[in-house]
Amino acid sequence: MIETEAQPSNFIRDIVAEDLKAGKNDGRVVTRFPPEPNGYLHIGHAKSICLNFGIAQQFGGFCNLRFDDTNPSKEEVEYVESIKNDVRWLGFDWGERLFYASDYFGQLYDYAVHLIRDGKAYVCDLTSEQVREYRGTLTEPGKDSPYRNRAVAENLDLFQRMRGGKFADGARTLRAKIDMASPNINMRDPVLYRILQASHHRTGDQWCIYPMYDYAHPISDALEGITHSICTLEFEDHRPLYDWLLDNVPAPCHPQQIEFARLNLSYTVMSKRKLLKLVNEGFVFGWDDPRMPTLAGIRRRGYTTEAIRNFCERIGVAKRENLVDLALLEYYVREDLNRRAPRVMGVLRPLKVVIDNYPEGQVEELEAVNNPEDPAAGTRKVPFSRVLYIEREDFMEEPPKKFYRLAPGREVRLRYAYFIKCVGVVKDDQGEVVELRCTYDPETRGGYAPDGRQVKATLHWVSAGHAVPAEVRLYDRLFTQPEPGAAAGGDFLPDLNPRSLEILKSCRLEPGLAQAAPASFYQFERQGYFCADLRDSTPGALVFNRTVTLKDPWAKLQQQGLK
Ligand code: ATP
Ligand code: MG
Repeated sequence: MIETEAQPSNFIRDIVAEDLKAGKNDGRVVTRFPPEPNGYLHIGHAKSICLNFGIAQQFGGFCNLRFDDTNPSKEEVEYVESIKNDVRWLGFDWGERLFYASDYFGQLYDYAVHLIRDGKAYVCDLTSEQVREYRGTLTEPGKDSPYRNRAVAENLDLFQRMRGGKFADGARTLRAKIDMASPNINMRDPVLYRILQASHHRTGDQWCIYPMYDYAHPISDALEGITHSICTLEFEDHRPLYDWLLDNVPAPCHPQQIEFARLNLSYTVMSKRKLLKLVNEGFVFGWDDPRMPTLAGIRRRGYTTEAIRNFCERIGVAKRENLVDLALLEYYVREDLNRRAPRVMGVLRPLKVVIDNYPEGQVEELEAVNNPEDPAAGTRKVPFSRVLYIEREDFMEEPPKKFYRLAPGREVRLRYAYFIKCVGVVKDDQGEVVELRCTYDPETRGGYAPDGRQVKATLHWVSAGHAVPAEVRLYDRLFTQPEPGAAAGGDFLPDLNPRSLEILKSCRLEPGLAQAAPASFYQFERQGYFCADLRDSTPGALVFNRTVTLKDPWAKLQQQGLK
């Protein structure tokens, strides 16, 4: 089991606890996570998963994984598999409780017949445009369909023929007979079934009519004995329909629908339609591109299960929409990686350094601390030799006032190694610095001078002859605006960050990383947290993703009392 922070109360947990205390549902707690398999899960879904599985865990109940697969035209098996994988990755287990709304197509059909027999549903011949016209608006009541008062026998016959494939797509629908004048548009004779000559990934060609979400969902909940049906706020206005349906079919129980505010994250788009556009139009390299807010993407980016679960716990659940700062998610990623990531040295933009007074051919193994946050992580040896690489940006030929790192004539510390002093600069024909000549002080082994002399900077480095090459992908936010699309009426493409990915091809890492397993994570000292890419990295050809930088903009907010 994954350890997360202590579970504070929230209004949904309070409702469940109250229900248990009052002996409701015979003391059972059953929740469900009901994704539609029409895309990959994203960080918003993680909030819902943590909430539903978390409540089941907390109260000794169950949480079902149910695919809401009622729309065969947009759904694919690829999505089903990715969703299962993502829920498992978050550390949750549905055990035997894997369900599909399509499992209930037979029962849903029978309940529809029941509604028709009771005069509570009818077959309507209006086209979808006409249905929309007749529906009215928020301020005007709707008009009755001319087919609304069909006799029960005729409805039964037509519905059976709809099922038998006798009519074209869209020619007829089955609608609930509720109230065309209801102030709630969802109650104005909503469509329950539509004709769709489409093959379904599980039921094949068995059906050519498919239930609408609003019809299938409450009944699926009831058939599974769900006690608390937790969904996002946009379904609040659908709750009367949820309840109406369960009151009017012989369902085995009546789950309680409870709504909470969906997660909105700054600098992020979350709707599947938008994510699909990014993928299909090539703005990112697939659903698992590390810049995507999909669980597949952030996993590849190096975000950990623990970080996401702690984040979901921290944001809690509210009844009002809000926008959560992406920096908060990054804060939890840093917090977790700071605790667990081994420290290593990696030079992203190498500059060659030759130590003139270091014996040619000599190699020393210097001791380096693996994780100062975790004494049990121990130490390792890193090789030091005459030719090294340091970070190009750690040297300036003409340093401005506040630049304390290496410069001609200046002494700095190489981490875990020695003090070195720059004594010469080698340039190419274009005048670019290609090599530094330095001397080292043998008395400073380990990085401290016995005479107590101080230096103002400590640099990371690798031994040129020992380092392993790697490609490093520096990721940044995918959007430049906190609310992508807000300025252009929803068009989020202009807000894409043109610098969301920078690829560095000639990085050099300390030799211990030669065998780094895909998905293993490290702190590259002074640079940030990185992980070996799940898809592209192999021990022979390392590829690292920058998960997150070391700097913590959230810390500032914390100081200002905003956290
Ligand atoms: P999208 O709007 O991105 O297409 P969706 O709501 O249609 O998402 P579903 O597959 O139906 O996607 O979602 C499964 C469950 O996850 C639903 O219960 C839904 O309420 C919940 N969910 C979806 N997005 C979020 C979010 N941003 N925050 C919290 N829960 C969410
Ligand atoms: Mg949905």
